[in-house]
Amino acid sequence: MTERERLIQLLVTLVLDGVITEEVAEQILDAYDKDGTLPLGWVLPLPLDEAIPLNLVDLVNEAVQDFFTTLRVSPDAAEDDFIRIVTNLAEQLGRGTITLSQWHSEMVNELIIYLAEQAQTGAQRVMTEDELDGLYNATLFQLLYLTRFADMIATGRQSSAQVESRSILYAGEGRAQWYEKNGATNAMFGWVVDYIAVDDKNTCGPCANAEANGPYLPNDASAPLPGRICRGRGYCRCVRLLRYDPEVYTRLSGLTA
Ligand SMILES: [Zn+2]
Repeated sequence: MTERERLIQLLVTLVLDGVITEEVAEQILDAYDKDGTLPLGWVLPLPLDEAIPLNLVDLVNEAVQDFFTTLRVSPDAAEDDFIRIVTNLAEQLGRGTITLSQWHSEMVNELIIYLAEQAQTGAQRVMTEDELDGLYNATLFQLLYLTRFADMIATGRQSSAQVESRSILYAGEGRAQWYEKNGATNAMFGWVVDYIAVDDKNTCGPCANAEANGPYLPNDASAPLPGRICRGRGYCRCVRLLRYDPEVYTRLSGLTA
């Protein structure tokens, strides 16, 4: 991908997102074609085929295999590690010790590994094809969000503090992956899960509702997941706890009339 193609890729995204008009995009491209300059404060983002790796399925599968033998009782340790890493990357980008392209490709790697780590350590067994597909799709979505995010940084529209706090939001989907896969593993007769809203119940409505509407069957695909439904995303510390309650289980699974 040439530099010019990367610029066009960025301009198209910005026009589609309504950040700039088509007219402004054309002016920017004209200026670039004349003397190779970009607007003040702009840098070129990572080429799309690196932002969304072509071999993403393989990368996700390899990352999953790396965690087959890792046992974790909660998603917290991996989440804390991920937040530490992305905070550090945001700081390096802010200081200018790494370029936007370097930052973006590191974020791509970290996200693939982190989501696979959470899904696999939550599952504690070999995941099914459907679960691997779900993880792949979740990873793809996060990488697409990341591409939009990088485009905003490329045009100087994000401060260092914004880059840091927005990077942390990506941790939330990993938390959801852990609880989702762990729930499926623990789908046994008599077991239900309670959603425990640890976050501020006055400010996070979705989490408070999730707690009030429980309990749920552990493998209920429509049940709320911490980090995904929470407004705090990566800041969410809500949990789902397994509880043995055959009576509630029977009612939830519709085994009684
Ligand atoms: Zn929450």
